[in-house]
Amino acid sequence: MTTPTPKTEICDAIHARRRFLISSHARPDGDSIGSQLAMAYALEALGKEVRIVNADPAPEHYMEFPGVDRIEVARSVERSDADALIVMESGDLKRTGVSGLEGRFTINIDHHQGNTHYGSLNWVDESKAACGEMVFDLIEVLGVPLTIEIATHVYLAILTDTGSFHYANMTPHTFDICRRAVEAGVNPGAMARRVFDQNSFGKLKLIGALLAEMDLLDGGRLAAMYLNDDIMNATGTTYNDTEGLINLPLTAREIQAVVFFKLGADGDVHISMRSKYDVDVRAIAAAHGGGGHKNAAGFKLRGPLAAIRDGILKEMADAIATGVQTRPA
Ligand code: 5GP
Ligand code: MN
Repeated sequence: MTTPTPKTEICDAIHARRRFLISSHARPDGDSIGSQLAMAYALEALGKEVRIVNADPAPEHYMEFPGVDRIEVARSVERSDADALIVMESGDLKRTGVSGLEGRFTINIDHHQGNTHYGSLNWVDESKAACGEMVFDLIEVLGVPLTIEIATHVYLAILTDTGSFHYANMTPHTFDICRRAVEAGVNPGAMARRVFDQNSFGKLKLIGALLAEMDLLDGGRLAAMYLNDDIMNATGTTYNDTEGLINLPLTAREIQAVVFFKLGADGDVHISMRSKYDVDVRAIAAAHGGGGHKNAAGFKLRGPLAAIRDGILKEMADAIATGVQTRPA
């Protein structure tokens, strides 16, 4: 007898149920939006009922993608009559930011290290470039045809979670899925423009202000950026406008890693990190109770910023020193 893979178990569980609730982590990104909607369209193709509930709205420029306007934004759900909950991309249920999800039949699909396996069924594969890759594979096993809506959301998930094909975790299968998505009608050039070339003038000003105040450290190998209400007010922007900006310093040849300190009104500091090649920022996030991937990770600390900043910069410089020694040719 062969042991069923989680994928086939998940397919059986889906076929056996009718009403689904889908969620993902708070402050959803392209992978969480794409994974949830690709899954929703596939479930509906199978005749299922689907609700999607997220703690925060999708970034504005994703609103025109199919189905994004149907995502319900709520911080709690009533004990509804859904037969199953599917959670994408969340190491634990708390990261959804939605209360009331506990105690249901739960399918947990994730590609982050440190997932707590909180589901009734858990499919966690850290080797995947995007959760959307896993959803694509699942949809194939479910036998649902690849519609333009599903293909668009799978491609969105991969395009964003690989940092526009920059990160280290892509495989031939990643490109096979992209090829299939393009065959199904996805236009990669238009997708890149729709996802990455959507800046408002305010956002361009925000970029200018953040880069003007950026610190260059560790002999130019480390960049630190700082976001606070003053900068957002001066440029007429919101927290959502910060998406993707952390990647800008990495376009400088010398910079190996970036840390972005984002001050919240509640006194919390959200710390986002990005790195190149073998510089491991996930380990730093994990040591502070956060998570992510080797080249993209984050965590939250209580302020004040002045008390935590230098320690984190030292950890970043140490990660760079270790990482550059093992750099691929
Ligand atoms: P970002 O910097 O865009 O917020 O997140 C980058 C990566 O780190 C994402 O994969 C995200 O899931 C992960 N991440 C960011 N913040 C946290 C956090 O507070 N906790 C955990 N577990 N992961 C985080
Ligand atoms: Mn992801």
